[in-house]
Amino acid sequence: MTGFDGFSHPLNDKPILTGPVFYWMNRDQRVMNNRALLKAQQIALSTDQPLCVVFCMSRTFPAASERQIAFMSAGLKTLETSLDKLNIPFLLLNHQSIERLNELFKVIKPGAVFTDFSPLTQWVNWRSQVSEKLNCMCLEVDSHNIVPCREVTGKQEFGAYTIRPKINKVLNDYLHPLPDMMRHPVSFGELDLDKLKPYQDEFVQSSLSSSGEKAAETQLEQFLEYGIHRYDRRNDPNQDAASGLSPYIHFGQISALQIALEVQQGMRSDEISEKNGSDFLEQLVIRRELSDNFCFYNPHYEEFSGFPEWARKTLDLHRSDRRTWLYSVDHLEGCKTHDALWNAAQQEMMTTGNMHGYMRMYWAKKILEWSESPDQALKSAITLNDRYSLDGMDPNGYVGIAWSIGGVHDRAWGERPVFGKIRYMSFDGCKRKFDIDVYIQKNKQKG
Ligand code: FAD
Repeated sequence: MTGFDGFSHPLNDKPILTGPVFYWMNRDQRVMNNRALLKAQQIALSTDQPLCVVFCMSRTFPAASERQIAFMSAGLKTLETSLDKLNIPFLLLNHQSIERLNELFKVIKPGAVFTDFSPLTQWVNWRSQVSEKLNCMCLEVDSHNIVPCREVTGKQEFGAYTIRPKINKVLNDYLHPLPDMMRHPVSFGELDLDKLKPYQDEFVQSSLSSSGEKAAETQLEQFLEYGIHRYDRRNDPNQDAASGLSPYIHFGQISALQIALEVQQGMRSDEISEKNGSDFLEQLVIRRELSDNFCFYNPHYEEFSGFPEWARKTLDLHRSDRRTWLYSVDHLEGCKTHDALWNAAQQEMMTTGNMHGYMRMYWAKKILEWSESPDQALKSAITLNDRYSLDGMDPNGYVGIAWSIGGVHDRAWGERPVFGKIRYMSFDGCKRKFDIDVYIQKNKQKG
């Protein structure tokens, strides 16, 4: 469908030249199970060239919070060490990074450039700002999805029920372990190393030990030992039953492929029940890849206009409904609404960088109920989620919010004020589902 090997997509029509091979890393911040890095090494080996990994910090994550930057930086620091062992230099560009990356590619003329796939608009724009200026081949590789986003379908899917059969049909063709990276046998010469030096910026200092590939592996191991056996209780925020893997997956510190292979292995050996294993894979593979599909084929993924027609119509009809409570984004951020359960969810996100998956739905739906318009609700939810969630600025976030507020990948429900036919969630519903007092107490605002 896309040429080359299904994972790779050409971003220009230039040839491979004689020169070092670069991997411009973005979303897949790991050495292990990284198809883009493997592919870059394959080309570097076949052309007898050195290999370098470069990462643009400032442009890739312009709205990132200190917590996100600290997490990412700690992970990148461990990555630098791993790459060093493989004889692959790692460059971090902190300031005016796209301009300096283009400058770097003028100073050291690459033979080929590889980069990650991401459906997010900003990334698509930056990618073309670089690939268009190159004289050599620039290839995007989808190492984030198990079945590459461009391969699974050529259009925006209606929901999990339409993408699931398309993914499942080919999934086994993609569920194979990837080889390890080898120590790269070709080094940069002294002259080129000197030319690279001005492009190496300082890392943000971070003492976090819970970030990076090793930390991601530990999180996975713990989940496979304990959490997955209780995965059927994942909708209770007081149970530690979900994987907690989303920050690691978001920053690409672990591949979905590796996680899926390990879960499948556990299911085959009867260590993981069929139900828990397949429920988890539904989230990890189907729901996650559906999010990339939505953002890739719908450029309005952050806007009201990106909602399905039935949802826009029903929300429009209810624009002038009276709102009992109205909260601005600043008020919401202060965790001071009339609803203690909502305040606890917001507090959980602000304190820990993570909000429980079930509470995320309630949280976003209440923002719709308490905002002057669905457009404003969408804006407030995205702002807060991207600012405070460690896994924010991710297709899963944009889609989770669009699902809650704009019926994306959902269907019409019974009509009610403000929501129209968008699915509703209530405080009493939560009360029936889990012990809300325990959750509120745990996430009470201090002071
Ligand atoms: P687990 O249940 O252990 O799932 C494993 C993995 O599957 C997750 O890490 C994630 O990659 C994927 N996954 C799980 N649920 C979903 C889902 N509903 N849609 C797509 N993929 C899923 N996810 C983010 O990664 N970043 C966000 O910023 C984000 N914001 C959200 C905002 C709202 C309003 C909603 C409703 C959902 C949001 N989600 C987001 C999706 C989901 O809630 C989280 O992925 C999940 O809670 C992460 O916890 P976990 O890793 O323990 O999940």
